[in-house]
Amino acid sequence: MDDNKEQKEQEEIKIRKMIDDYVSHSHYRLNPDAKIVDRVVRGLVMRKIKYGYAYCPCRLVMGDIEKDKKIVCPCVYHAEEIERDGECHCQLFVSNKKGEP
Ligand code: SF4
Repeated sequence: MDDNKEQKEQEEIKIRKMIDDYVSHSHYRLNPDAKIVDRVVRGLVMRKIKYGYAYCPCRLVMGDIEKDKKIVCPCVYHAEEIERDGECHCQLFVSNKKGEP
């Protein structure tokens, strides 16, 4: 296996674990749409490889470590967004009610 593919797979495992751990300790849940989750996870993996941190794939990285640490997933904005919109900006995390019948 080439190094790049292996690195992506390793990062994906870590990011999915971080997400699962977070969901199990938070009031939120993962978006029930697996395609959306996969898309966001891919974005987080790319950013982790590029920048060394899993920056939000839906926001601009400023290049200022102090500002950018606010957008390391789960970002500082997600709770307010979920409260307001029922989902975070990337739609990775949703409120417990969203998608339920
Ligand atoms: S918007 Fe959602 S996916 Fe993006 S960093 Fe915040 S919590 Fe993570």
